[in-house]
This record gives sequence, structure tokens and C-alpha cells, in this order.
Amino acid sequence: MSLVLHVDGDRWRNHLRETHAASPGLVPVAKGNGYGLSVGRLARRAQWLGVDTLAVGTYPELPEVVQRFDGDLLVLTPWRATDPPLAAAAERVVHTVSRGDDLVVLLERNPRARFVLERATSMLRHGMTARELWDAARVVRSTRGARCEGVALHLPLGRGGNLAEAERLLTEVVGADLPGAARRTVYVSHLSRAELGTLTQRWPDLVVRPRIGTSLWLGDRDALRVSAEVLDAHELPRGTAFGYRGRSFARSGHLLVVSGGTAHGIGLEAPTGDLGARGRAATLARGGLGALGLVRSPFFVDGAQRLFAEPPHMQASMLFVPAGDRVPAVGDRVDVRVRYTTTTADRVEID
Ligand SMILES: *Cc1c(COP(=O)(O)O)cnc(C)c1O
Repeated sequence: MSLVLHVDGDRWRNHLRETHAASPGLVPVAKGNGYGLSVGRLARRAQWLGVDTLAVGTYPELPEVVQRFDGDLLVLTPWRATDPPLAAAAERVVHTVSRGDDLVVLLERNPRARFVLERATSMLRHGMTARELWDAARVVRSTRGARCEGVALHLPLGRGGNLAEAERLLTEVVGADLPGAARRTVYVSHLSRAELGTLTQRWPDLVVRPRIGTSLWLGDRDALRVSAEVLDAHELPRGTAFGYRGRSFARSGHLLVVSGGTAHGIGLEAPTGDLGARGRAATLARGGLGALGLVRSPFFVDGAQRLFAEPPHMQASMLFVPAGDRVPAVGDRVDVRVRYTTTTADRVEID
């Protein structure tokens, strides 16, 4: 009984190699549920790719990667004074510092700490203003042996529209006059390949290091798919009560019980697809099922997206298959179309 993420290994590895080759200075990002693949697995892949730096999202993720990747480990979430001291691999960890006060405390506690300074972008998640960056750069210049390794810019999902902002920020970064390699090195997120190419051409003195997760690990959509197992199928004559809430439908069909529930992240977000009034009207026109007030599930049976018969359970979901449609056999596998970053499979099969 399991939800399985299937990976076409050759295809996936080809995409990783191609992305690596096309992205000089690549820093792969492994965080959260590991983009559906697990952070540990991505760390091993980063080692295999041969990059010198891997980014994780948070400090608690470090233990998942330290043994699997032997290069530098950039932590994307900014360091705060409340973070516990590093347990392992301290020499390989590069902190992100997003506030001047934190810089002072970090250097007090560990003058040998390696770090990048984060400049805020239009995202406004973390980062310093231009003035704060200049002040921080002054602290770095005046602290002998301070190991600042560059500046970080986390841009919004620009889909190619981030160039102007990136260039404006790069002008400030250069103006901050950081010492040594920090002066030249900029870690960027969410620039397109074309934008990265343009920046590299226009700023030949800078080393631009793209931090990439989604378009690296999940960039070739057809290399991955998720399947669920049919665990049970029950005839459901109209009016028959079922489920946790004893609801019933005015139409006959089958109840299909499949693996995959809230514990896997199923049903925690609206399935992709048009759920607006027009989409509902189309569903209504197709089979009258919209009239049952059901919600579309991410499960596909016989090529058709099925409706949840009731909200997903913790590890299984109940689907409604209307009378007349083919009912799969127990043990069959059905496709599930979900966001990998919010779905945790029981098993990942890479072939
Ligand atoms: C998650 C994250 C990334 C990677 O984002 P993708 O969209 O998955 O490529 C890059 N930079 C920062 C700061 C992040 O938090």
C-alpha cells in the first residue's frame, strides 16, 4: 500500500547534467521534502554532479547532507542569534547573514564563521537595504580575518523579468566594496538562463552563482511521475451511505479506495486544474457530477481526473467512479498528478 514516485533515471540524470553544464557556478538547492525526492538523495546527486557547494534551506537539514556531500554547505535561511551552534561540519558551513546586528553577534561568537551577506530584493523576505549592506561591508572590512564569501540575492519568481532589478542590486553590491572574493561573488536565485548569460557578459568581473532547485531536480517533468495503488473497490448503489460522515449520492457508481492521503500531502491544496465556476460548469456538462458537490482529486483513473468521494483520509483516499466507467482492479496502479514539493511518497523508485 504505497504512493510511489517513479523516476526515469536516465532521463533525470541527463537533465541534471545538462542543467549543470548550462549553469556555470551552479549551487543546487536541497531543502524541505527534497522536492519530493528527499534531501539526502539530492545531496548524493549533488556529489555525483561534482559541484563544490550545496544549499540547504535550514540548519536542521544539515545532518541529512553532511555525510552525503563533501563540499561547502550554504544555509539559505538567515542565521539568527537563537540558532544553536553547529554540531558538525562547521568548517564547511556558509551562513547567510541578513541583518547587521546578526553579523556582529556571529563574528563575536565565531570570528572564523564563513558567511554571505543577503541584500533584500523586491521579495522582501530577508535581507539588508543598500545602506545596511554598506554598513555590514564596513564591519567586514574592519574585522581582521572575517570570512565573507559574497552577497546573496533572492529574487521573486521572475520568469525572465528579473534582469533590471538584478543589475540595480549588482551595482550596489560592487559599491559596497567588500574585501577579497566577497567583492566578486554573488549568489542569485530565480534568474533565467538567458538572464544569467546576460549578467555574465555584462559583469565579467563578477562570479554569478545561481542557486537552483525546481528547474534542476524537477525541470524535466516527464522524467517523474507519481502512482497510487488501488486498495479496494466497492459497488455504491445510489443512496448508499459510506465514509466517515455517512454521506450518500443520488447516483450509482463505485467507491475506489486508493493509497495516498493527507500524510502524503494529498488534498492539502487544490488539485491543479480549473476549479472556477467555468470549470465546474464544464464538469457539470460532462457528467453532471459537479451537481454532487464533489471536489476534484489529483487521482487519474482511465485517463480521467476523479472526484474525491469525501475528503482524503490520512493514508488513503476514497474516489467516486460513476456507473458505466471501468473500475480498475485491486492492485492496479493509477496516476496521481501532484506538486512534488508538497507530496511525500512512501517510496522513490529510480530506474
Ligand atoms: C528555495 C530557494 C531557492 C531555490 O528555489 P527554486 O525555485 O526551487 O529554484 C533559491 N534561493 C532561495 C533563497 C530559496 O529559499
